[in-house]
Amino acid sequence: MYCGSRTGNNSLFTEAAVQVGHWIGQRGGQLVYGGGKNGLMGTVADATQAAGGRVVGIIPKSLVEKEHANHACDELIVVDTMHERKHLMAERAQAFLALPGGIGTFEELFEVWTWRQLGYHDKPVGLLNVSGYYDGLLGFLQTGVTSGFMSEWQMGLLHISTAHNEVLNALQLHAGH
Ligand code: AMP
Repeated sequence: MYCGSRTGNNSLFTEAAVQVGHWIGQRGGQLVYGGGKNGLMGTVADATQAAGGRVVGIIPKSLVEKEHANHACDELIVVDTMHERKHLMAERAQAFLALPGGIGTFEELFEVWTWRQLGYHDKPVGLLNVSGYYDGLLGFLQTGVTSGFMSEWQMGLLHISTAHNEVLNALQLHAGH
């Protein structure tokens, strides 16, 4: 799960993060995330555990204080570098989902999406477009297609929905294939 270390200024962002955490927890699932207590990251982790799920947090040691490492994680892994964090998160996850967030979220989403189209992994990648937060980005990505820099196939590798159930069901369906 990739999402903001802040909550943003619309309560629907937090609501969506809670719904995602509950969806995972209610299915006895496991959340793999950046290991922080702040923002939507902390919200998803708390909601997952509250609904009975397991939470794995992976955080670089330099961010343990800054991002308020979540010691309530069932498994908190402190790694040396950001690269290790991303690598381990990608290895431990069965699917990737981005919620609203900032530049850290964007970077991580684009990385796993590009890795997918290059065949570095075959795990599904999703984007939960809460309250139109990603409308501008999705419009620009379409410009990438119409301008001939991106293909419809690449766009099709990203599962996009405004509804948490829809995107999570799609990721579950495609995980492990
Ligand atoms: P943000 O979306 O900016 O609030 O950040 C969400 C998470 O992404 C935080 O845990 C950041 O530490 C993380 N992050 C920030 N920059 C990067 C990066 N270059 N690569 C991977 N994760 C990052």
